[in-house]
Amino acid sequence: MDSFGCIVVGSGNAGSCAAFAAAEAGCDKVLIVDVCPPEWVGGNGYFTAGAFRTVHGGLHDLLPIVNNVSAEQAGSIDMDPYSLHDFLGDIMRLGNGKPDPALAHALVASSRDTIGWLADKVGLPFMFSFHRQAYNVNGRQRFWGGMVLCTEDGGKGLIAAHQRALAKAKVQVWFNCRAVEITMKNGAVSGLVVEKEGKKMHLATRAVVLAAGGFESNPQLREKHLGAGWERAILRGTPYNQGDGFKLAAAVGARQTGDWAGCHSTCWDANAPAEGQRDLTNQFTKSGYPLGIMINSAGQRFVDEGEDFRNYTYAKFGRAILKQPGGYVFQVWDSKVIGSLRVEEYGDGIVEKIFADRIEDLADKLVAKGLKEKEGFVETVKQFNEAVKSYQAENVHCTWNPAIKDRMSTTDLAMPKSNWALTIDQPPFMAVKVACGVTFTFGGLEIDPETAGVISEKTSKMIPGLFCTGEMVGLFHGNYPGGSGLTCGAVFGRKAGQAAAKAAKIA
Ligand SMILES: Cc1cc2nc3c(=O)[nH]c(=O)nc-3n(C[C@H](O)[C@H](O)[C@H](O)COP(=O)(O)OP(=O)(O)OC[C@H]3O[C@@H](n4cnc5c(N)ncnc54)[C@H](O)[C@@H]3O)c2cc1C
Repeated sequence: MDSFGCIVVGSGNAGSCAAFAAAEAGCDKVLIVDVCPPEWVGGNGYFTAGAFRTVHGGLHDLLPIVNNVSAEQAGSIDMDPYSLHDFLGDIMRLGNGKPDPALAHALVASSRDTIGWLADKVGLPFMFSFHRQAYNVNGRQRFWGGMVLCTEDGGKGLIAAHQRALAKAKVQVWFNCRAVEITMKNGAVSGLVVEKEGKKMHLATRAVVLAAGGFESNPQLREKHLGAGWERAILRGTPYNQGDGFKLAAAVGARQTGDWAGCHSTCWDANAPAEGQRDLTNQFTKSGYPLGIMINSAGQRFVDEGEDFRNYTYAKFGRAILKQPGGYVFQVWDSKVIGSLRVEEYGDGIVEKIFADRIEDLADKLVAKGLKEKEGFVETVKQFNEAVKSYQAENVHCTWNPAIKDRMSTTDLAMPKSNWALTIDQPPFMAVKVACGVTFTFGGLEIDPETAGVISEKTSKMIPGLFCTGEMVGLFHGNYPGGSGLTCGAVFGRKAGQAAAKAAKIA
């Protein structure tokens, strides 16, 4: 029987961090197994924008680890520090107080140190995320929404860097290799059974790290846990996250926790293919709604597009769209803001853009795309414009500024737009049809916040030799601060790898 110091299930960001950390901590023979073929390496990590949220002390804290800022440019950046209190507050606020405070604290408290480790030891190429997280205001780059870092070339750059680091650390990676069973001896992990090329193999190990993603790729499990209709959501990433990790864990008595009815889901191109595409990856995201409005097929607005910065609303708006008639809606802007939409998401050839010079003509064209209530659509835009004008008349000193919550709002609308409300009255008008893209599921396993050791349902103690990280950790509830997923995978991956290395050495 082949024997390994530690086996990590999953080659995404979380699993890669765990394997690297185990090797770095002196674990001999570290193996990653992944059910996907080699060309799908990196799980959902490959599809990301590479955005990492972290506690930081402002510009000077992070300048040493980014590669896209000259000394001259640094002088024109405005970046507020983002404290432990801020990050923890965001997780708890968006989760309606439901996330486990100790787990959330562990994530936040280790975030900055882990980012340093990713930059210095793993070699992730970090940049400031000017395109996604900053606006040019009076010649200065003003960052907003608490998140400032991303990896060069997004998820593609992230996974390429992990692969280089793993190769250097001599971590083996087996593809087309599905983990099917964790074996136990005397109450502790003794091995992992995998299926490779149609054959079952029993691999001996004292430490297994589960980093196999959630169940978002599995329509039946989505319907079972998230509810009716979720089988129709479009998958934003890998098709290989089928919930296997939870089956493995349940069979050895792991305790489940977190929001099993919840998931991260976003505005996604309604014409996107049914699963993630490795060329366009995250470019199907349609996150320009704070600059405009969203109208459903019945001609009604249904969310406050300006409730908060996009980072704090985008992960729950997919669910809101799925609930609308037909499961799709239209994002609408006028010429005042069309030029401010991100080219990566709304550039020519990226998405079908519907233009018209009159809002009535836009509505006519949208009928062919599924709009059922043409008059309702026109009336909604009209009422919205009146509400914006009336607010502006009462608040003459309020000025539009997308880099802050500018309180440019609406008056007298049952569904307000609380920030960045501008009239939609200058042609050309543009609309894009969006649906619900499911990103990852929130339900997970309970872990020890310090070691990422998986907790047993029966004993409430750690199952010796079993660790967990990434999407499989049940931390987030209902909503989530953008960029926390990669940081969560890295923080608990690093902890899991270090603890797995220790477990591997215990005779
Ligand atoms: C389009 C998109 C954009 C995103 N953008 C961001 C972002 O910018 N910032 C951010 O923080 N988060 C982002 N996310 C979320 C982020 O991808 C996840 O939080 C994170 O990558 C999860 O990492 P993971 O390693 O846990 O899972 P994954 O990266 O999904 O890896 C899980 C791996 O496990 C493998 N696996 C599954 N079952 C088995 C089995 N039985 N045996 C062996 N292997 C198995 C899968 O093949 C997969 O490779 C985004 C997600 C998507 C889809």
